[in-house]
Amino acid sequence: MEKTIYNFSAGPAMLPVEVMKEAQAQFRNFNDMGVSVMELSHRSSEYIAVAKEAEQDLRDLLQVPDNYKILFLQGGGRGQFSALAMNLMGKNANADYIVTGQWSKSAIAEAEKVGKVRVLNGFEGNDNTTPLAHHWDLDPNAAYVHYCVNETVEGVEYPFIPETGEVPLVADMSSTILSRPLDVSKFGLIYAGAQKNIGPSGLAVVIVRDDLLDQACPQTPIVMDYAAMAKADSMVNTPPTYAWYLAGLVFKWLKRQGGLEAMGERNKAKAELFYNYVDNSDFYSNSVHPQARSWMNIPFQLNDDSLNDAFLSQAQAAGLTTLKGHRSVGGMRASIYNAMPIEGVQALVDFMDVFAKQHS
Ligand SMILES: *Cc1c(COP(=O)(O)O)cnc(C)c1O
Repeated sequence: MEKTIYNFSAGPAMLPVEVMKEAQAQFRNFNDMGVSVMELSHRSSEYIAVAKEAEQDLRDLLQVPDNYKILFLQGGGRGQFSALAMNLMGKNANADYIVTGQWSKSAIAEAEKVGKVRVLNGFEGNDNTTPLAHHWDLDPNAAYVHYCVNETVEGVEYPFIPETGEVPLVADMSSTILSRPLDVSKFGLIYAGAQKNIGPSGLAVVIVRDDLLDQACPQTPIVMDYAAMAKADSMVNTPPTYAWYLAGLVFKWLKRQGGLEAMGERNKAKAELFYNYVDNSDFYSNSVHPQARSWMNIPFQLNDDSLNDAFLSQAQAAGLTTLKGHRSVGGMRASIYNAMPIEGVQALVDFMDVFAKQHS
């Protein structure tokens, strides 16, 4: 029998076992065609059906309104840091960026190559995790306001959607998209690298409101040009066909799970299980403000960090992998995206409890 491994990687992250098995079963013989979906022309009717179905399933899951396009692009999450700036700053080269952690900082660095960026802190006080209570000093004439909904490194998930009036809100949802229901109509543009909650790395999904498709800088490369991509159903050039297909399998899996309401309840239960354990322990801790704690990425510390190496090697031996924290934060990080079952979180908590008792 296969040993059960729970993979807590922040990304590329685990995919649902059912999806992996389905892909495996079809790997060399897609729809009885005798070839892999990877070997199909992206212009073939068979592949176009795969692509369209994936798009429709994502539209259903997120209840994306009709006046939004869904694009399947390349270059991952970071590619969109550049693409969104080039696509939105052609007529008005001023944007507001809210900083909440490392990913929003990286987004700013790319936008600054394109236009003028004003940087606003998303937190009050100095602990860098207490979310600002709605008193933003936003520029009413900015082309857009950007924020990162879930900071994957710090484990900070913004607890509310910033109110930006007429200014379009742009959101990096790489590590939280599809983890709970979402009101897409509050956003001008949503984007996500795929390798956390959607599928294989390299792919990025962009959901963009139609009226924002005429704001691009003229030098925007065509493979990043939202309007051109929207017009060509994301096939200006050859799309990452296999990643798109796998994303489609994940979307179908999510529908079978009961959609985003059900995923939200599940993810909430997983996160609560973990935070409750850590909060009631004097061996482990998590320092993120309770209001801003991520459901997807949970950094935690051993209060005695000389035990870190022992913790990681024993966890590995117990089938609990990739728990080492991001190098900038240290300690541990458990990423518990959609594909992580609650049994995995329970197994981790059980292991942590045994480890704590052995070492205190
Ligand atoms: C992973 C991640 C990215 C970058 O994704 P790449 O595909 O590696 O470029 C961007 N933003 C957030 C919030 C992420 O978690």
